[in-house]
Amino acid sequence: MVKPKYNRVLIKLSGEALAGEKGVGIDIPTVQAIAQEIKEVHDSGVEIALVIGGGNLWRGEPASEAGMDRVQADYTGMLGTVMNALVMADALQHVGVDTRVQTAIAMQQVAEPYIRGRALRHLQKGRIVIFAAGVGSPYFSTDTTSALRAAEIEADAILMAKNGVDGVYNDDPRKNADAIKFNELTHMEVLKRGLKIMDSTASSLSMDNDIDLVVFNLNESGNIKRVIFGEQIGTTVTSKISDSE
Ligand code: UDP
Repeated sequence: MVKPKYNRVLIKLSGEALAGEKGVGIDIPTVQAIAQEIKEVHDSGVEIALVIGGGNLWRGEPASEAGMDRVQADYTGMLGTVMNALVMADALQHVGVDTRVQTAIAMQQVAEPYIRGRALRHLQKGRIVIFAAGVGSPYFSTDTTSALRAAEIEADAILMAKNGVDGVYNDDPRKNADAIKFNELTHMEVLKRGLKIMDSTASSLSMDNDIDLVVFNLNESGNIKRVIFGEQIGTTVTSKISDSE
């Protein structure tokens, strides 16, 4: 039997992944389809943590540009990520995967507080853990949350699932037909070239903690499994200098 390449991964889904065709809000059939795909990977024995963004419901920065206090706007965004986490946890439970939501902002009637040791225990017991409410502080993103939590739980990689984007390019492939896709990159190259995979705080944190990142297209069914089993799809970002340099 083929063994998975990774034993413990953190999957980052943007909030938009849950919105389906509508692009905003939460589309339950879309969430159910993602949950089914995650279940299939989980069945192969891989330990899975999830971070889900909130951009389908709310983003702090535009709200603050429109006149709202930035901190208040960001807390609103963090609460959006909790809504997404609860919906995804429900969908995972429905397909038979034991799942726990842990929030960086305490709301004990709704979810567990984030406690690293407990998260690790859940993972070891085969439960999926969803980290919600970001890092619990304004001015951060769920990308940074992914890098931080991945370091804390010693994940082998962050799987950065993108909607309709199959990797990292040297230019926007939707605007430039000649844009070239990278198979491999280093975090340093990402930072130097200003490539927009994650925000720079998240990239630096991944670089400093030697966390691999795989950027791939979520919209192609079966891709999470392909990445976990080491198939070369998307773009892999590592701390090491790539051979192509
Ligand atoms: N947010 C925050 N701190 C965090 C994580 C998120 O303030 O640690 C807020 C921020 O306002 C952000 C919103 O939550 O715009 C939604 O998160 P994000 O933009 O990362 O979601 P995604 O783009 O991945 O859907």
